[in-house]
Amino acid sequence: PAATVTGAPSQAGLLGRYASSLTGVFGAPSRVLVRGEGVHVWDADGRRYTDFLGGIAVNALGHAHPALVAAVTEQLGTLGHISNLFTSGPQIALAERLLELAVAPEGSTVFFANSGSEANEAALKLARRHGREDPSGRRARVLALEHSFHGRTLGALAMTWKPTYREPFEPLPGGIEFIPAGDAAALEAALDETVAAVIIEPVQGESGVHGWPAGYLQAARDLTRRHGALLIFDEVQSGTGRTGTWFAHQNPAVTGQDEPVVPDAMTLAKGLGGGVPIGAMISFGPQVSALLTAGQHGTTFGGNPVATAAGLAVLDTIAQTGLLQHVHDLGARLARGLGAVDGVTAVRQYGLLIGVDITVPSGVETPVPDGGLAPAVVRAGLEAGYLLNATGPSTLRLAPPLVLGEEEADRLVADLPSLLDAVLQAHQQQHDQEN
Ligand code: PMP
Repeated sequence: PAATVTGAPSQAGLLGRYASSLTGVFGAPSRVLVRGEGVHVWDADGRRYTDFLGGIAVNALGHAHPALVAAVTEQLGTLGHISNLFTSGPQIALAERLLELAVAPEGSTVFFANSGSEANEAALKLARRHGREDPSGRRARVLALEHSFHGRTLGALAMTWKPTYREPFEPLPGGIEFIPAGDAAALEAALDETVAAVIIEPVQGESGVHGWPAGYLQAARDLTRRHGALLIFDEVQSGTGRTGTWFAHQNPAVTGQDEPVVPDAMTLAKGLGGGVPIGAMISFGPQVSALLTAGQHGTTFGGNPVATAAGLAVLDTIAQTGLLQHVHDLGARLARGLGAVDGVTAVRQYGLLIGVDITVPSGVETPVPDGGLAPAVVRAGLEAGYLLNATGPSTLRLAPPLVLGEEEADRLVADLPSLLDAVLQAHQQQHDQEN
C-alpha cells in the first residue's frame, strides 16, 4: 500500500537533489529507497518492490533481518572499532568460522578488508609476494580470464577484463594477462614458471552468470600446482551461500565433481556482511599464508568488530535456518519456471545466482528497443514493483536475498511475460509515432 509519510521528502525532490550533487559519480538512479524488510523494499513515494537483486548478491538474509540487526546493534553498543593494532572476539570467531567452512588446512589465515575490490587487492599482493619469493626472479605474470570482473580499484581493475572499465584509467598495474575463459588448453598454454597466480571467478557474475565446463576448475587446480602458480578464487559474488553451498568451489554443479576444488586463496565480500561492508581474503595452508608477513599490508577498518559480528550473524543464520538447501531448491524452481517463458532463450542457474537471456517472444514482430531488451525489462520491472538487473543488452541477472520465498519466485515467473509484453508494446507505439 502506498503511504507517503507526511513531511518526508518526496522522491522527485530527492532525485532532483541527487542530480545536482551526485550524478556523474554514480549512474542515474530512478528510485530513492527508504526502507526494506525481508525481500521487499519501499521507495520514497511508498511504493513496494520485490527485490530480485539483493543489492547485487549482498543481502543474503534479506532486508532488516532481526538477527543481523541485533548482532550489529549489540556490537556497536559494546565495542565498535579498535583498529588492527588490537583484535576482538567477533574478528577471531569469524576467522575461525570461515576457515572451518572453507575446510582450510591447519596454518591457513584470514585477512579482513572492507569490500570485494579490497579483498582482491590483497590477493594480488599475495600473488606479487609469491612471485618475489621465487629465486628465479621471473615469476611476475598474473593470469585472469576474459569477461572477468574483480573490482574497480586499480589492482582489481587491472584483473578486470571489460575494456570500457579499464581504458579510461590506463596505465593500469602491469603484468596481468587475459586468457580465454573456461578453456583448459588455453590456460595450459599460458602457464609456465613465470606465472605467479591465476585468478578465476568460480561463477562469473558480472559477465551474465557463466560457469565452466565440468572439470575446468580442477584442471586449473592441477595445472597451477604443476607450474608453481597460486590459484585464486574470487568468490565475492559466488560465495557465502549464493549458489547453495558455502562457497561455489564446493558446489558439484559448479565444479562438476563431488570433492571441492581447493584454491590457494579465496576472496569474499558482498553476502558475507549481509549489507554491512566487509571483505576477506583466505589464504590456504601455512606456506601461502606466510607470504604476507605482519605489517606488510593493512587497512584501518578491516575486520572491525561490527562488520565481523555481522558476518557471524549471516553465517549463523544461514546454518540455523537451512538456507543452503533452500537456495538449492528454490533456485532450481525459479530456473525451471523462467526457462519455460516464451522469449527466454537460456537460463544459467547456480543456486540463486541466475542469468537469463531474453529475446522477442515468438510471433512478435516488434524490433528490440535501443539499448537492448534486458535494460528495458528492468525499467518495466520497476514500474511493476520488481528490482531486477541487466548485465548486458539481452541478459537479466537475478541475485535475490537468499530468503526469497516460493510465492515471490513464482510471481516473477508469472509476470515476466507481461513485462516483456509491456516493453514491446511501448516500443511499438513509439516506433509507430516516429514513422
Ligand atoms: N569480485 C567480484 C566477482 C564481483 O562481482 C565484485 C562486485 N560486483 C567485486 C569483486 C568487487 O566488489 P566491491 O564492489 O565490493 O569492491
